[in-house]
Amino acid sequence: MLIIDCPWCGPRAESEFAYGGEGGIARPGATEAMSDEQWGDYVFMRKNPKGLHHEQWRHASGCGKWFNALRDTVSYRFHGTWKIGAEPPPAFARLGQGAATPATPAALPAAEGAAR
Ligand SMILES: [Zn+2]
Repeated sequence: MLIIDCPWCGPRAESEFAYGGEGGIARPGATEAMSDEQWGDYVFMRKNPKGLHHEQWRHASGCGKWFNALRDTVSYRFHGTWKIGAEPPPAFARLGQGAATPATPAALPAAEGAAR
């Protein structure tokens, strides 16, 4: 079972949470000045990294609050959660510094390695 640490309630089962997509995406200010391509990029284009990913989650069956999370998309491991507007965990500094590069074969689950 995957355990997620809600910044307000503490560790809970994943079944209590809802994924909210990529985190840290701010709505542009002057939307009327944006081209259709720029607007389309804002609305639809998201990162799809293999490795650390900044995400937003909601404790839907708990306190109902939104929060940020840093999760590894290969191992599903959460490297930290934090309240909106709070300081991110130290591992957040690894984003943009090669953290989203492909994982090493040793880090891949055994079942995936066996399928090759
Ligand atoms: Zn909560």
